[in-house]
Amino acid sequence: MAHPAGDSPARTLASEIVSCLRGRGHVAYFAGGCVRDELLGLPPSDYDVATDATPDRVRGLFPRSSEVGKCFGVVIVQGRGEVVEVATFRSDGTYTDSRRPDSVTFSTPQEDARRRDFTVNALFLDPFGDVASNPGDLPRRPLSGCVIDLVGGVADLRAGVLRAVGDAAQRLAEDHLRALRAVRLASKLGFQIEAQTALAISRDAAALRGVSRERIGEEVHRMMTHPSRAACAKSLAALGLLAPVLGLDQRAAVSWDHLASLPGEAPYPATLAAWGLDLGLPDGEAEWPGAWRRSLCLSNHDRDGLGAVLKGAGTIRGAWPGLSVAGRKRLAAGPWFEWARLLIGVRTPELSAGVANDRDRLAATPSGLAPVPLLGGDDLVAAGWQPGPRFKDVLDRVYDAQLEEKIRTRAEALELAAGLGVKG
Ligand code: ATP
Ligand code: MG
Repeated sequence: MAHPAGDSPARTLASEIVSCLRGRGHVAYFAGGCVRDELLGLPPSDYDVATDATPDRVRGLFPRSSEVGKCFGVVIVQGRGEVVEVATFRSDGTYTDSRRPDSVTFSTPQEDARRRDFTVNALFLDPFGDVASNPGDLPRRPLSGCVIDLVGGVADLRAGVLRAVGDAAQRLAEDHLRALRAVRLASKLGFQIEAQTALAISRDAAALRGVSRERIGEEVHRMMTHPSRAACAKSLAALGLLAPVLGLDQRAAVSWDHLASLPGEAPYPATLAAWGLDLGLPDGEAEWPGAWRRSLCLSNHDRDGLGAVLKGAGTIRGAWPGLSVAGRKRLAAGPWFEWARLLIGVRTPELSAGVANDRDRLAATPSGLAPVPLLGGDDLVAAGWQPGPRFKDVLDRVYDAQLEEKIRTRAEALELAAGLGVKG
């Protein structure tokens, strides 16, 4: 039977890299998340190779390669339209800033497994190894080859346990971002965080504030754009991580039904809006998106999207019945309207359904929800207007009239504009 992880160009490239390194007398394995995922029957998002060849040696063997983070010993090799990270076995030096090791030393597979965060992330796979020598109790067989388990990762994989490699408190103190990686991976895989690991995370939750906001924001982005987002939110709250992640006071137990209502592929701003509503934060023109922007290093696009979903939700909940036809059409045509309506439907399904009916009726009018404007700035200039501050106001009012079906032609639009006041 075909392996659910499927064979992929990235795996083929990774196998070719391992084969080439082997041919030159080196040790080389698949490493980390790709091994974990293959053994769970999931499609790996990328393939990483670990080897005893130094980065310079790897560069020399693969012309289409580049070095990332020279001090971390990682080389990116390209081929088959894919990229594979090739990392030299290493042990990390001390951590003075709780983020990155001060130095790395090239070392052995044993040391390399020990510097990884969780046991299920510390497995190696020899893609050309003897399948028959695999442990008999793997959740699934790999696509090919045999597993090399130096830290008890297979047992944890089978039991569905996410466990720090070595002393949990010490490993967390080296890099507090691992607290968020634990939440994300456990939620995504449906695993339990092992008791000592969970205890270390919650005891040290406040130390997450020492991690850069960029790295926290990236992890939160990965959490919220995955279908397991509600499980992540629940786990963050249970471990006391909401305050350091979002810059919020710890909140009382809440439900996660806004997050749970979203489809898997919901865009990041909509997921953030759902999360905030689950935490009891207000919709409408709220201030909290500004604080989240700083806490999570949001881009302008994501911050604006979050604001638009909340504003839309506030309008649907409050002002919708009193809005003019033009006002409703403008709102309904906006890119975030459907997300706002979906979130409103969590607490007030009738209101949301009624608004959907209104939207469908408006879409069925002759001009539709968002017709191409009859008049643009160029038309006003051509009609002898001087560009000026009143342009936008006049064009808005003409467009409103178009949305309300009061005018239908360009001539009517020009006539209306002319009647709206002095030119320029
Ligand atoms: P995903 O499927 O989300 O990519 P992953 O486990 O592959 O999960 P990556 O960020 O791609 O995660 O990292 C690859 C591997 O590098 C991990 O499996 C782990 O062995 C190691 N690793 C990554 N980040 C850390 C960290 N902060 N501390 C220790 N080891 C890490
Ligand atoms: Mg990965």
